Amino acid sequence: MMGNEQAKDLPRGVKLLHDPVRNKGTAFTSAERDRLGLRGLLPPRVCSPSEQELRVIGNLRNKATDLERYLFLVSLQDRNETLFYRVVINHIEEIMPLIYTPTVGQACQHFSHIYRRPRGLYISLEERGRVRQIMENWPHRDVRVIVVTDGERILGLGDLGAAGMGIPIGKLSLYTACAGIHPTHCLPITLDVGTNNEAFLNDPLYLGLERRRERGAAYDELVEEFIRAAQEVFPQSLVQLEDFGNCNAFRLLRQYRDQLCLFDDDIQGTGAMALSGLLAALRLAGGKLVEQRVLFFGAGQAGIGIGNTIAAAMIEQGLTPDQAHRNCWFFDTRGLLTTGRDDTPPQKLPFAHEHAAIDDYAEAVRILRPTAIIGCAGQANTFTQQVLQTMARQNERPIVFALSNPTIKAECTAQQAYEWSEGRAIFASGSPFEPVQLGNNVYVSGQGNNAYIFPGVGLGAVVSRSTRVTDEMFLAAAKVLAAQVNDKDLALGRVYPSLSRIREVSALIAAEVAAIAYRQGLAQRDEPGDILADIREHMFQPLYPHYA
Ligand code: NAD
Repeated sequence: MMGNEQAKDLPRGVKLLHDPVRNKGTAFTSAERDRLGLRGLLPPRVCSPSEQELRVIGNLRNKATDLERYLFLVSLQDRNETLFYRVVINHIEEIMPLIYTPTVGQACQHFSHIYRRPRGLYISLEERGRVRQIMENWPHRDVRVIVVTDGERILGLGDLGAAGMGIPIGKLSLYTACAGIHPTHCLPITLDVGTNNEAFLNDPLYLGLERRRERGAAYDELVEEFIRAAQEVFPQSLVQLEDFGNCNAFRLLRQYRDQLCLFDDDIQGTGAMALSGLLAALRLAGGKLVEQRVLFFGAGQAGIGIGNTIAAAMIEQGLTPDQAHRNCWFFDTRGLLTTGRDDTPPQKLPFAHEHAAIDDYAEAVRILRPTAIIGCAGQANTFTQQVLQTMARQNERPIVFALSNPTIKAECTAQQAYEWSEGRAIFASGSPFEPVQLGNNVYVSGQGNNAYIFPGVGLGAVVSRSTRVTDEMFLAAAKVLAAQVNDKDLALGRVYPSLSRIREVSALIAAEVAAIAYRQGLAQRDEPGDILADIREHMFQPLYPHYA
């Protein structure tokens, strides 16, 4: 979109060097240096983008810790976004864990102490009544994707209040890197409604509101005002809810999903990511999706989101809603989810089945005979030797997804999954594990990362100018992703494609999502002749413009 701007329309001199969107640093050509008042402000040698990339990567690898690498990358992003995205895209496997989980979690924990420059918008409870004004302070008018959090459930780290801002920033960097949403179209927002994090409340440097988390009407009023202001100020934007607490995530999604273009990644993105893994796993295990019986460990946003998506896929393949839900069983802090329990929240009700109470997970595995177990409770070591051996006894190829993040929270390690199933488990995890060697065989597990899903879904919704993000779009995204797992991936035991292919995967997902929007009359734009080519044309490439 910046295209090849005319030199006369650009800021000059130091101002241009301080504009991260237009800055080219040492790559400004000699002629540009003359035209734009840069002569003498840069070292004489003109560098190519690949030379700049080499310098960045060298510096990055020289840092002692991942947190230092994170800070180095953030400051590059603040100086020169084109170069930042060039480096991220060309080294996605190395850099994604730095700009997103797990390092971003550390950055959020230390946010108030390592804080350097602002990025994104902070909207606190105290700003009720003037949220629109705050949004109008944002320097870019053409916002297409807003990622918003209230910081209550940051990764598996709990309530980080205003320090959770690293998450919307990181997710939006992935939107640009993985799906080519232009950096100036992205807006990270933190709603600061207080925090219940004692350490933060006692920290004199904490940068958020010094008060406990608001739970009453004022919370809902702020969210409502934010949603309305977003629609008014940025009418073409998609809103992604991110890392809200359980008590708000489901109800906010229910409340707003039919009012605007909005989704919740922890619920819907995770659902599509896991369904995709299951579909790919069935190419190894054999059997049909509708024949699967899934037993979850954890019934929060991830678990219920995955259950909903799997059930939707089973319904699409001919089961009744009741039959589909009966294939998904949940185990949470109160044991097996059954109809005999009281106070079951609405999102869990379809999965509460008639059954005797069971309060031991291994026992539930023995009795219910699942074909797949999915861990998403943030509790380490819960897929025990007994659980995995029972799965291996009951299934030729047991499907085992240990999705809890970060690595220390995983339900079991890759080594345990393969060892305790005699190498027969089809294993995927939320955080990556090194390949495992058992005898003469090497097993490479897949990483179930939402970054395979949300950037593509967002790109498709944004390009088609869809008024809604529907469940059908997430189902389609899961199928596209599963289809991208090739025989080589499967031969290694991996049920997700290599991250290095993520931009291509995102484009394919976006094309499917956009096709649904055009077909269902949700698009506010005419359908192009070639939807995939149109999607590709809209993707930002990290290339310097030529300033004529
Ligand atoms: P959540 O807080 O919404 O839900 C947690 C669930 O676990 C609740 O149902 C709770 O009852 C249950 N639980 C907690 N302790 C338990 C115990 N000891 N025994 C049985 N059940 C217990 O959280 P969430 O958003 O669903 O996320 C859960 C985990 O999944 C986190 O670790 C998160 O990092 C991970 N996750 C991973 C991915 C991914 O890999 N791509 C995506 C989303 C979430």
